[in-house]
Amino acid sequence: MNNVLPDSVALELQKHLADAGVEWHLGTTAKSLNYNDGGFNLVLNNGTVIEPDLVVSAVGLRANTLLASQAGLAVNRGIITNALLQTTEDDIYALGDCAEVMGHNLLFITPLLAAAKALGKTLAGETTEVNYPAMPVAVKTPLYPLVLASPARGLQGEWVFEKAESGFGIKGLFVDSSEALLGFVLSGDCVKDKHTITKQLPSIYP
Ligand SMILES: Cc1cc2nc3c(=O)[nH]c(=O)nc-3n(C[C@H](O)[C@H](O)[C@H](O)COP(=O)(O)OP(=O)(O)OC[C@H]3O[C@@H](n4cnc5c(N)ncnc54)[C@H](O)[C@@H]3O)c2cc1C
Repeated sequence: MNNVLPDSVALELQKHLADAGVEWHLGTTAKSLNYNDGGFNLVLNNGTVIEPDLVVSAVGLRANTLLASQAGLAVNRGIITNALLQTTEDDIYALGDCAEVMGHNLLFITPLLAAAKALGKTLAGETTEVNYPAMPVAVKTPLYPLVLASPARGLQGEWVFEKAESGFGIKGLFVDSSEALLGFVLSGDCVKDKHTITKQLPSIYP
């Protein structure tokens, strides 16, 4: 989660999962995976050999924009659209994981619903721009609960951290030079503050 979590919170998450028995192999990648004689053999790029019972691959998502680019649409991290979900071809629209809407390629359900509502109205004759409110994401790690609203790419600011009174959890606020809140991460017992803090966040678009 290095793209979305500040180090101090990521390290706490790592520690809590390690305490529960997770063994981490960081700074390397899988080189080969073979299945022989009824068992797996996984070799990492640093030479470590592991014989796991089960392999789950979760290496991240990237929009497959090949078809769109072959069709002549502008693409970046996703298919580029304006606030009406309209691609660089007026009669072609994009939404969901494949779309990069006003610079935002958001890979979860809430923005997809907001986009579907706006596009539905536009296609029914009422031209409507998408409205992305602040949309914090809950990470489903019950040993160390996490809610985060990452600051948009390129925003200038700094993280300010506070430990939970109970000692379990961190409140991290990303603020600009005038102390305006631009993003946050809450972990452990601090997760209970998510509604209050979300109200202070600006919308993503407009
Ligand atoms: C493991 C996992 C867990 C997740 N958990 C959550 C969660 O808890 N909460 C949340 O908000 N989001 C979650 N997400 C993200 C969420 O699932 C996606 O944001 C959402 O499904 C995106 O919807 P979509 O319609 O844009 O794309 P998809 O759901 O990927 O649907 C695209 C469809 O298009 C089809 N397709 C592709 N190419 C073509 C083609 N050329 N012709 C015809 N059909 C094609 C595909 O087969 C697929 O059925 C999770 C995702 C994953 C992978």
